[in-house]
Amino acid sequence: MAVAGTQESKKPGPLKMARHQLAVAAKHLDLDEGLHNVLATPKCQIIVNFPVVMDDGSVEVFEGYRVLHNLSRGPTKGGVRYHPDVDLDETTALAMWMTWKCALVDIPYGGAKGAVRVDRKRLSKRELEKMTRRFTSEISFVLGPNTDIPAPDMGTDAQVMAWMMDTYSMHKGYTVTGVVTGKPVPLGGSLGRLEATGRGVIVAAGEACKFLNRDLSGSRVAVQGFGNVGSVAARLAEENGCTVVAVSDAQGGIYSESGLPVRTLTERYSHREGGMREFKDCDQITNEELLALDCDILIPAAVSEVIHQENAKDIKAKIIVEGANGPTTPLAEDELSDRGVMIVPDVLANAGGVVVSYFEWVQDLQAFFWEEDEVTHRLEKIMRHSFGSVLATMEQQKTNMRTAAYIIGVKRVADATVTRGIYP
Ligand code: GLU
Repeated sequence: MAVAGTQESKKPGPLKMARHQLAVAAKHLDLDEGLHNVLATPKCQIIVNFPVVMDDGSVEVFEGYRVLHNLSRGPTKGGVRYHPDVDLDETTALAMWMTWKCALVDIPYGGAKGAVRVDRKRLSKRELEKMTRRFTSEISFVLGPNTDIPAPDMGTDAQVMAWMMDTYSMHKGYTVTGVVTGKPVPLGGSLGRLEATGRGVIVAAGEACKFLNRDLSGSRVAVQGFGNVGSVAARLAEENGCTVVAVSDAQGGIYSESGLPVRTLTERYSHREGGMREFKDCDQITNEELLALDCDILIPAAVSEVIHQENAKDIKAKIIVEGANGPTTPLAEDELSDRGVMIVPDVLANAGGVVVSYFEWVQDLQAFFWEEDEVTHRLEKIMRHSFGSVLATMEQQKTNMRTAAYIIGVKRVADATVTRGIYP
């Protein structure tokens, strides 16, 4: 299926992708046009331009966004991204994807996303803190444990969440732990949150193998991106008996036919100046070459639109598990689906993060904290159950996994919207 008006461009852009994916599901669901328009449009888009005094005394103006896509099923939920190329359209697409993700795994949230256009590596720790606090203050009128709850995403982490929580709490005059998730554990964070997205990705990979009558153990796995999602997914793949043949970061990747020592790479190389390419017992490869490797499972866990119509033909993996948001364009997905490649879509594959964010929020609201086993057990149960529902819908509707996931997620949001009714 073609994305209208984008046949020439190999990368349609995340918002066109998100709207196309919604349109495909809307057709299956026979959604009323008005309702489809409601779901294709964000509820609220905020753009803020704000100054920060840098360490050298100069003033820099940063552009930030917070987009709340849909509130029908509860407060909005979604990460905050720090990236030099992010814009309002991408943030909107990411917020839409959060809506379907939360609905698919059936947690009581709508979708949101925030972003600041910044290269985090350029900032000192003090500048990062000041920028985070000022951004939080600028968007604070939508934030709150009952309204909109940020979390980490690309370029942000538990420390950034601690500053966001502290800034919001200072305005309130008391500590509000439930305003953000992905916080450090001593500040109301949840055990298991740091690993949650990568853990969910590997549960999804295991379920995909089961469906295809293959074994996860012994599978050859390539992971693009070695941030929080990619590094944890690679480590857990290794712990599950997979051979991790390649990993990469933004600078490029490394490959070893017999498997890379993921734990050593994480502990000893990922923080070095030259990154994991300082590890010598392997071949250097590019990110493009990583995607085309002969492997069983490919985990794109970096940026969006890396698998597009020009390189889809080169992909040799049988299973793609989308750790990143939006890594596969619709035209590439059509080609890969025709070839029988199983793509576990982002809204399912990387939902583990927001699932444990939900657990963190519940723990914060109750001021009662769970043991890690309980978090992991509940996470795996939700991931397996959601995976099973998507497979059942896929077989019933004779479609691919993404459309099946959308049929479930979009229907839940549409039903909530219709049942609540349109005010006034
Ligand atoms: N940023 C993550 C995502 O894209 C997690 C969001 C959250 O935990 O709220 O799913």
